[in-house]
Amino acid sequence: MDKSVHPRRACGACSLCCKLLPIAALEKPHDQWCAHCRPGAGGCTIYDSRPQTCRTFSCHWLADPAAGEHWAPLKARMVVQITGGHDAAFDRFVDVHVDRGAADAWRSKPYAADLRRLSADPRTLVRIFQSNRTFVVRPGEVLEVKRA
Ligand code: SF4
Ligand code: SF4
Repeated sequence: MDKSVHPRRACGACSLCCKLLPIAALEKPHDQWCAHCRPGAGGCTIYDSRPQTCRTFSCHWLADPAAGEHWAPLKARMVVQITGGHDAAFDRFVDVHVDRGAADAWRSKPYAADLRRLSADPRTLVRIFQSNRTFVVRPGEVLEVKRA
């Protein structure tokens, strides 16, 4: 979405956030391609007038040099979004949006170890959004939760 944040990384041919993330301004649900996206063929077709949400978004891999290369979205088939500051119980939300058909890579190496490490902070909530299922990763366990 925001194509130029990290000095060493770039979205390139990736548009996976335009599929996996919900965009309220477009009434676009999660895990469904945005109608304005041409993945691998130029990306956003309304780039100059795209919603503010799209203008400001950068996935974790793009924005954080500390994120491992295995989190590159086209490789992982997951997009990680980190947000914070809008819940009394948590300071930070780590949301992992899993591409349909990408199976359970988040449950195994190297992803599971990263998620366990992030979940060790009691003020961080790690959530997995996989098709119509939602999981919470906590130290030593993974819980499936009902979606609101
Ligand atoms: S998922 Fe990340 S790397 Fe891919 S297009 Fe979106 S911001 Fe760029
Ligand atoms: S409007 Fe553009 S940047 Fe936003 S989700 Fe759609 S294709 Fe992606």
